[in-house]
Amino acid sequence: MGFSTDAIHAGQHPDPSTGAVMTPIYQTSTYVQEGLGKHKGYEYARTQNPTREALERNLAALEKGKHGVCFASGLAGIHAVFQCLRGGDHLLLGDNLYGGTYRLADKVMKPQGLDFSTVSTKDVGAIEKAVRPNTRMLLIETPTNPVMMLADIAAVARLCRARDVILVVDNTFMTPYFQNPLELGAHVVVHSSTKYLNGHSDMVGGVVVTSDDELAARIRFLQNAAGAIPGPFDSWLALRGVKTLALRMRQHDANAREVAGLLEGMGKKVYYPGLPSHPQHELARRQMRGFGGMVAVDLGSIEEARRVLPRFRIFALAESLGGVESLVCHPASMTHASVPAEDRRRVGLTDGLIRLSVGCEDVEDLIEDIRQALA
Ligand SMILES: *Cc1c(COP(=O)(O)O)cnc(C)c1O
Repeated sequence: MGFSTDAIHAGQHPDPSTGAVMTPIYQTSTYVQEGLGKHKGYEYARTQNPTREALERNLAALEKGKHGVCFASGLAGIHAVFQCLRGGDHLLLGDNLYGGTYRLADKVMKPQGLDFSTVSTKDVGAIEKAVRPNTRMLLIETPTNPVMMLADIAAVARLCRARDVILVVDNTFMTPYFQNPLELGAHVVVHSSTKYLNGHSDMVGGVVVTSDDELAARIRFLQNAAGAIPGPFDSWLALRGVKTLALRMRQHDANAREVAGLLEGMGKKVYYPGLPSHPQHELARRQMRGFGGMVAVDLGSIEEARRVLPRFRIFALAESLGGVESLVCHPASMTHASVPAEDRRRVGLTDGLIRLSVGCEDVEDLIEDIRQALA
């Protein structure tokens, strides 16, 4: 099936008791049992919930994986993935990750005995040097946030498979509409479904997808044993949101290309993999089917960022991304404030950088908003 057909139908069937075409919100904590040990496969809602299961089957299909396991947030999903490691194992992380992922490794996993370090994932040679005998996992984002640096997933996956390292790709920015890391050799895909998958900025959730039966069993076990499950209503919102993922991503991508072109035309330093001037544009064309809706632009100084940010009328000044509405943020003081200033400088995250989550509005209105804000 094509992507949109899967997005709308995969993992879902009319409700067996009523024929309801849309998967109901099974808002229940428990299920009646006919007798001792005799039930319909549903005992308690931390362990099984039909709404959540429909979402899990749907997202697994879109990411071309066998198993999908949903969580209460993207970070809860990443936490479960990290907990597949043991004390003494070494975890390697991309050096420009979502701040919360870094914090989880540094402030939660490290005190529990997990050894971790970071590496620039632009260059496979650098990763090869950073892999240690006890390295068990590498987690990367591509493109990175907000400077849009790419990693060559297929090349990184070949290295990881040769060295027995589990490759985890956070695919939140590209979504399965534009990029399928499992097909490029990654073992695990994680998402904050809070962002593009749900797409309407009205829930928080996460998902882990893999075709590895052993990893899936461990993550499924952790979902129940540690209990960071999404509720049925949030699962339903995400299931509903995903139905329009293809439509939305096409619009985000088309709008972002115009916005990036406009900003570059104004002589600004723009970070967007769809621009031919992006240093990894060729790789972007090879491993992605589009370039997404995230654009970063350097305004030159914190003073200019302070002047411009309150002037936007359509782009709302807010953290997060991936909703139908356009947002703007200042990574150095907002999303990446917990990253030490020296690390921010090293990855090119300057104080004058602003990040746009380009939404699905009419592009003429977005362009006008940017023009008047920067004027
Ligand atoms: C938001 C985000 C996360 C964390 O997800 P939550 O749903 O907020 O827990 C992880 N990775 C990326 C790339 C994100 O943008």
